[in-house]
Amino acid sequence: MTLTDIDLLKIDTKPFFKSQLKHLLNILYTVYPGIYVYFYAKTDDHSYSLQDPPTNKVHLFETISSDVPAIAAMLSGQGRESLFILNQENAAIFSSEPDAWAEFSILSPMGESQKLTGFLLTIIPQEISRDAINLAVFNEVAASIGAHSVTSEIVQTYKDRSDHLSVMLEVNTHLNVAATKTDFLFEITRFGKYFLQFDRAVLVLRPENTPEYFMIDSIEGDEKGLQQGMSYPVFNSLVSQAILTGQYFIYRKSQTPNPEGIYRTGDYEDYPYDQVIGFPLVKAKNGPGVLILEATGEYPVKPGELGIFEMISQSLGAALTRFSLFERLNNYATIDTLTHLYNLRALKQRFEEELARAGRYQNSLVVLFLDLDKFKLVNDTYGHLTGDFVLREISQIIRDSIRTSDIPGRYGGEEFVVIMVNADAAACMASAKRICAAVRDHHFEMNEISIQNRVSIGLSEFPRDGETMQELIQSADAAMYTAKRRGGDQVVKYEKGMVPKSRA
Ligand code: GH3
Ligand code: MG
Ligand code: MG
Repeated sequence: MTLTDIDLLKIDTKPFFKSQLKHLLNILYTVYPGIYVYFYAKTDDHSYSLQDPPTNKVHLFETISSDVPAIAAMLSGQGRESLFILNQENAAIFSSEPDAWAEFSILSPMGESQKLTGFLLTIIPQEISRDAINLAVFNEVAASIGAHSVTSEIVQTYKDRSDHLSVMLEVNTHLNVAATKTDFLFEITRFGKYFLQFDRAVLVLRPENTPEYFMIDSIEGDEKGLQQGMSYPVFNSLVSQAILTGQYFIYRKSQTPNPEGIYRTGDYEDYPYDQVIGFPLVKAKNGPGVLILEATGEYPVKPGELGIFEMISQSLGAALTRFSLFERLNNYATIDTLTHLYNLRALKQRFEEELARAGRYQNSLVVLFLDLDKFKLVNDTYGHLTGDFVLREISQIIRDSIRTSDIPGRYGGEEFVVIMVNADAAACMASAKRICAAVRDHHFEMNEISIQNRVSIGLSEFPRDGETMQELIQSADAAMYTAKRRGGDQVVKYEKGMVPKSRA
């Protein structure tokens, strides 16, 4: 493909944004089947207009005025978070109102504070209750779409100026269908070679949880001198400069004979390439990574070609955000936000899986049911926030006291369940006692308060104490309640005749 193969007039900047939008909205449709999401963008100071409606069935007006109460409230600066709005109070949004809607919708703002550049309006079907909705998911998606629409605007302005960007847009459309980072890098190498000469493409990332390290994420081409997955501390090097400053760099052996390092300090000495160009994934300081193109031999580079790669690498940055957004949203669905243990839904799912396996292969399976002793007192004395802090610490104690193959989850407020597979009851009893003692010995220190806590634990065993998840939890719960009645702060193994609190 060359510049002349492309009819510049026919190129539209929209496909790039549209495909991003589609990916992002699909996240919402996957998490909450049955909803309709409408994206409105600001057209002038008084109105927002509908972009690419999700289906042919449009129940909303094409243009929404900023006078609608919910929008007006948002504009007056009451936060940038998604919120539930009552349909009745905001009737000026809806052109029709089918019976199947719930009474409320979700409004998710985009743009920095005081500026509302657009919003998502989500129509909820009646069968989804408010409690089942995690607004954080909507916040994330709206913020991400907001960020993409800004990129799209930049693209639009560039397009008017540069032919190369038209080519870039074409390339981008291909890149947007790449499902993984590796696919992405492969596509970049394939297309990139039309514009720039290089022999190897490397993606270096700066992991969010360990920003003091860089990691060689993927390599397209020869691995010489590098290793995929290798990580090293951030030092002076061209790569780190690009990430830290958000500016691209060009290295040529003949012109920059002594850089501090290419990837890391001192590595230029046995470095096998003659020319390196590094493009940061976002055009801002301290970005998430850099795309590096390395060549044997030195080549002239035109500014337009650099422009193409700047945009491509930023588009890679956007895609990476999308990949990690998927991961995070998946976590929302399975991880309890307070304790970071499995939430009830995920716990039950894992329980059923492990139970099926235990039945099939006659593996052992033991269930612990934990309930903190007199926990209400902690809340009543020190407040809920302190209570939450204690719950988080206890979750960590539980995690530290069990094997990695055990499955810990938050069953309810201050109740936990641990599923232990492939361990005999005696070993599980020992783990349970370890948790009990660790909780007893721990001083929960917060704001100069020191709190001590106790936990009661019940233990049940498959198939002796139950064959289904419900029976096993009930037995463990009954044993836990027996532990409470005996004074708490102990582990009790289920015996016939014990009953849970609800039936005592
Ligand atoms: P015991 O178990 O020894 O019978 O007494 P308890 O006071 O612990 O009673 P219960 O097990 O019924 O505890 C329920 C209390 O746990 C109510 C509430 O104050 C507290 N709780 C439940 N969920 C949370 C939460 O998410 N955060 C905080 N801070 N407290 C919670
Ligand atoms: Mg309880
Ligand atoms: Mg309790």
